[in-house]
Amino acid sequence: MKHPICPRCDAQEIVKSGIVNERQRYRCKKCSYYFSVNKIGKNIDSYYVTKALQLYIEGISYREIERILGVSHVSVMNWVRKYKIKAPEQTEYHPTYKIFNHAELVDYLKNGGNLKGAGMMITELGDKYMMIKWKRFKE
Ligand SMILES: [Zn+2]
Repeated sequence: MKHPICPRCDAQEIVKSGIVNERQRYRCKKCSYYFSVNKIGKNIDSYYVTKALQLYIEGISYREIERILGVSHVSVMNWVRKYKIKAPEQTEYHPTYKIFNHAELVDYLKNGGNLKGAGMMITELGDKYMMIKWKRFKE
């Protein structure tokens, strides 16, 4: 994390404050909050934060997000809290998702039947692609 931000008040005036359990510890100069971040290499960049919140809004559970993205469900819960995300209640659309490699994705899209009666979004996920698809519940 190049520029740590205070998880409590979002301030950027942060000073290093020792290492605890192999993690760099920081102190916020604004609100004096102590916090630590994972060691380099375990940093979760904003790419995964965005993806996790995206999935959360789509109605996918914390545990599922953990499985898909490989970030702990506790982290996801923290981000949801931190960014004050509230997922709208969805009753008419049901989201499902699939993870494809490129060839599988092309195959899937080749079949026009897969595109009927549903909206979808394709987003890059590491070396694969994630497709979130919405199907309207039958009346
Ligand atoms: Zn602070």
